[in-house]
Amino acid sequence: MPIKTPPKDGFEANVPVVVIGAGAAGICAALAAHELGVEVAVLERDSVPRGSTALSAGLIPAAGTRFQAAVGIGDSPALFVADLKHKARDQADPALVELVAQQAGPTVEWLADRYAFPFSVVHDFDYPGHAARRMHGLPSRSGVELIDRLRQAVDACGIPLIVNATASALYADANRAVRGVEIVRPDGTRDALGCDALILACNGYGGASDLVASYIPEMRDAAYFGHPGNRGDAVLWGEELGAKLEHMPGYQGHGSVAHPHGILISWAVIMEGGFQVNTAGARFSDESLGYSEQAATVLAQRDGIAFDIFDERIAAIARQFADFRQAEASGAVIEAPTLERLAARLNVPLPALAQSLAEIEDARRTSNPDRFGRRFPGTALAPPFKAVKVTGALFHTQGGLKVDREARVLDINGEQLPNLFAAGGAAAGVSGPRADGYLSGNGLLTATVLGRIAGQAAAALVKQDTMIDASPK
Ligand SMILES: Cc1cc2nc3c(=O)[nH]c(=O)nc-3n(C[C@H](O)[C@H](O)[C@H](O)COP(=O)(O)OP(=O)(O)OC[C@H]3O[C@@H](n4cnc5c(N)ncnc54)[C@H](O)[C@@H]3O)c2cc1C
Repeated sequence: MPIKTPPKDGFEANVPVVVIGAGAAGICAALAAHELGVEVAVLERDSVPRGSTALSAGLIPAAGTRFQAAVGIGDSPALFVADLKHKARDQADPALVELVAQQAGPTVEWLADRYAFPFSVVHDFDYPGHAARRMHGLPSRSGVELIDRLRQAVDACGIPLIVNATASALYADANRAVRGVEIVRPDGTRDALGCDALILACNGYGGASDLVASYIPEMRDAAYFGHPGNRGDAVLWGEELGAKLEHMPGYQGHGSVAHPHGILISWAVIMEGGFQVNTAGARFSDESLGYSEQAATVLAQRDGIAFDIFDERIAAIARQFADFRQAEASGAVIEAPTLERLAARLNVPLPALAQSLAEIEDARRTSNPDRFGRRFPGTALAPPFKAVKVTGALFHTQGGLKVDREARVLDINGEQLPNLFAAGGAAAGVSGPRADGYLSGNGLLTATVLGRIAGQAAAALVKQDTMIDASPK
């Protein structure tokens, strides 16, 4: 992605803070900058902002919130820090982990209090790796609702959200300060917009197959389930400006995407006592470790296929998710009154499927771990049985531009670039360099928290520069 020299005669228009990307990160950044009285504009490639945010379940993890307290959940940022560190095997930046864990609660409550987002906690099942129930979502439990509410908030504030506007190049001076953005329109016309600070909120590189092949070879042939417009622009610009890239092989995968329907099947079906078998009817892993690492594990099975097996009690819990309801409506969720009928419908050998079920029921009864180390507390599965044919997919990348506690992009020597910020998938996350470091919700965690921080810090920088410019010489 090109970095150009700023035009000699300046830009036709200037906005103090420009944000590239109108997903959760970009919109949170814009709202936060606007609150501080700084003019801000958001550039978005699509005609209607959606991003990966719209594809998600819209769940944001946060610890110690009033929403948790309301349903009697005890939690704290310190517990959250411990979970993040444990999942990422201590490979994520500890300062960033502390920051996002501390600020997640205030960020969720900020959206609730200032913009009337009706959050509630998912309190009827556990997400892998979280010691407390802390996933906060909107009534539909869908990212479409999250992005629509964010867009409405931006509109209500009168913040310009410029759609059909792909940022195609940055203008930077010899000191690596970004002076503006080149915008290309769908008809090929180009504009240049000047800025005093730039926030990169254009997510990672999941939509750039060449970058995926080079940084994440294990996902080279996997389906990409995120937003196709996320093509690694932030990383490419950052690299040109000498920014440090961190944890580039890190990613969020998912081992439960209905095939061939392409619908996310909530991991609730597994965490509540369901399990996965391959086309031979055999178990192959401890599914409870996490859905992200399970993507590669499922893809390693014959034809890259597995079956989620659960029952009606579990389906009733999963039905809170719009995706699951859509999967049922599309015929992706198969039901059978007996295990025999289920095996026949899935075309898997009955003896192997029966053996798999017997194994997990034995582990449940005895409270011993199964041969993969998984424990099965709770209620036995009961007919009618349910199943979904699933595959593994790449959801989004977790590596990106290294940022500090103000979401400022750092260079390879650890120095701040003069006026460049990054948030969400554009920034290196808190999952470390591997898929199994991804704790549920890490995506929207850094999108919303770092987005808000980036907006605040960019606004503060611009105000400070204005004061210096205006001070007596
Ligand atoms: C199926 C699925 C389910 C998920 N579920 C969850 C979940 O429940 N909880 C969770 O925490 N995370 C989840 N995630 C991850 C989460 O969606 C992302 O981490 C998060 O949405 C990233 O937000 P963002 O603002 O950085 O990027 P996005 O929401 O992708 O927004 C980036 C925007 O930038 C725009 N853009 C890109 N390049 C340019 C350019 N050059 N010029 C102009 N615009 C540009 C794009 O069009 C896009 O609108 C899920 C992801 C997927 C795919």
